[in-house]
Amino acid sequence: MNNPLLERHELPPFKSIRPEHVEPAINQILIANRRNVSELLDQAPLTWDNLVYAIEEMDDFLNQSFSPVSHMNSVVNSPELRDAYNAVLPRLSEYRTEMGQNAELFSAYTHLLEGKTGGELDTAERKSLENAIRDFRLSGIDLEKPDQVRFADLSKRLSELSSKFSDNVLDATMAWTKLITDETVLKGMPAGALELAKQAAQQRDKEGYLLTLEYPSFIPVMDYCDNQVLRKEVYEAFSTRASDQGPNAGQWNNTELILEILALRKERSQLLGFDNYAQYSLATKMARDPDQVMEFLQALAKKSKPAADREFAELEAFVKQEYGMESINAWDVSYYSEKLKEHTFDISEESLRPYFPAPKVLQGMFEVVRRLYDIEIKQTNDIETWHADVSTFNVYKEGQLIARFYLDLYARTNKQGGAWMDDCRVRRVLNNGILQLPVAYLTCNFSSPLGDKPSLLTHDEVVTLFHEFGHGLHLMMTRINCAAVSGINGVAWDAVELPSQFMENWCWQEEALEFISGHYETGAPLPKEMLSKMLAARNFQSAMRTVRQLEFAIFDFRLHQEFSGESDSQVQDILNETRAKLAVLPAPSFNRFQNAFSHIFGGGYAAGYYSYKWAEVLSADAFALFREEGIFNRQSGEKFLSSILEQGGSADAMDLFVEFRGREPNIDALLEQDGIL
Ligand SMILES: [Zn+2]
Repeated sequence: MNNPLLERHELPPFKSIRPEHVEPAINQILIANRRNVSELLDQAPLTWDNLVYAIEEMDDFLNQSFSPVSHMNSVVNSPELRDAYNAVLPRLSEYRTEMGQNAELFSAYTHLLEGKTGGELDTAERKSLENAIRDFRLSGIDLEKPDQVRFADLSKRLSELSSKFSDNVLDATMAWTKLITDETVLKGMPAGALELAKQAAQQRDKEGYLLTLEYPSFIPVMDYCDNQVLRKEVYEAFSTRASDQGPNAGQWNNTELILEILALRKERSQLLGFDNYAQYSLATKMARDPDQVMEFLQALAKKSKPAADREFAELEAFVKQEYGMESINAWDVSYYSEKLKEHTFDISEESLRPYFPAPKVLQGMFEVVRRLYDIEIKQTNDIETWHADVSTFNVYKEGQLIARFYLDLYARTNKQGGAWMDDCRVRRVLNNGILQLPVAYLTCNFSSPLGDKPSLLTHDEVVTLFHEFGHGLHLMMTRINCAAVSGINGVAWDAVELPSQFMENWCWQEEALEFISGHYETGAPLPKEMLSKMLAARNFQSAMRTVRQLEFAIFDFRLHQEFSGESDSQVQDILNETRAKLAVLPAPSFNRFQNAFSHIFGGGYAAGYYSYKWAEVLSADAFALFREEGIFNRQSGEKFLSSILEQGGSADAMDLFVEFRGREPNIDALLEQDGIL
């Protein structure tokens, strides 16, 4: 069988890829790779070229085979493709684990880095070896035998516990529903939310409206439903999921799981020589040590809390004056905040749409990066894609083609929701000496054009597009040729959102909006009056949002730093202490937020939730230079390009930031941007 996934192509031959190609191709590549690695390790002497580069070549071939499969599985899904994709996933993960625990490879890399074999390494090559060796160590490779066995047991148990935690949250979320047959109970809810609730009822062969605890149902109830009793009932069900409280008290209870997860994380970190899991988490991040993270969070908290209290007092005064209520409950905050927002700003996302037709926004975005980085972006029509909606672009610098990207803007059936950037090709030098150019997939889910009418974006969607394009630039503008640290590869987790959030800033600048926006019928740019409302609404309750994020981040970090296992109430105690310092309103005693905090107990954010704020500080502080020097200042653009975008993961993220800004990041720019300072 001719299998396109087993051939090298400059760009994926999307039209010839079939589900039946997937398993044979991946199986064959994995068999070959396993054989190759052991043959490579038999060579002497081992050098960068004959070992590390040879493995890069192998991995790149595997990625080129799998990347279009995984991408198509997300954007043109079919049952056959999904089956093929799911069939190879465990084999790929098994292969990666095996590679990550290859002791011979670990010792060869260590020798290479120490300069015992091979020739001189450049900075990017050194960094890629340092990362690889660090990751080998973090997977327990150089532990004594009994510790290694224990480490493996702990890792296995931890992954079971995490997935049990998430399953419990999911089951508890699905277990609660409420059927409403009297429409007046739902007064205030937007039409879209009512339609969704109606569909949910129909799907279960019921008449009326079915409320659930999933976000698209939960959020509109909290934001818009006039009925306070109902809001309270839904809030209580939501905030007690998987706990000892609420309507399903004791079922799918995550309390014991949390204690076991924390204890095992600590034990595993200590086997590796760390004091606690917070230290272990930072071993791969930009933040230096736990003290730096805590000082950072506390400094933000100190500045934000008084502003949050003022915002809350404003809400209380509004509620008292307009509704005659003396106090606000947890289930009232979102609802009255929406009322206050409407009252103050009188602007809706929908009213902005006509000013942001997708083609205009795209050209505007390309103009922004032309001014900043002196790059030209041109559409091409000769590249094969997976769907007629997809367009393709070439990126040129000084007339030279340096990168390409696929742009898949519109929602359709069999396409996963949301927006993201992924790599199709990373920049590296091929074994025939030719430079492989980076290629990005940019995916969004905006509404399609209708007839002659272009797709009209909300301002939120414009921001999303700029965000993903920022990730894309990080991949595409790199000048690093070593795959493991080229583009977004090897970039620390808490620094990876810097280029994306940085790009968002131009969506809020009058000087940029003049050409990003243009009414789809008249071409007129966004009127000044709408812009000032939009800017004012941007910071509505931003301090309250900030302290809420800080509450999660501090709780997460302290928990992983301080957990001792000595008392069962330690988790609740740390949460209560954090809330006492930060929350604008005390949480009801039944609230068990932690029992559904999947980010840190079921996902990868443990002792890492702070990253959200960390990256916002980096991007706001980076943009502050442009506010000082002019938002299209070429010198500043060139500096961001050469210090951040071109460097990828080839150097420590803090060093790169300092190279760009001349100093370490400072929280003031973010506080100013959020209107808190
Ligand atoms: Zn992002």
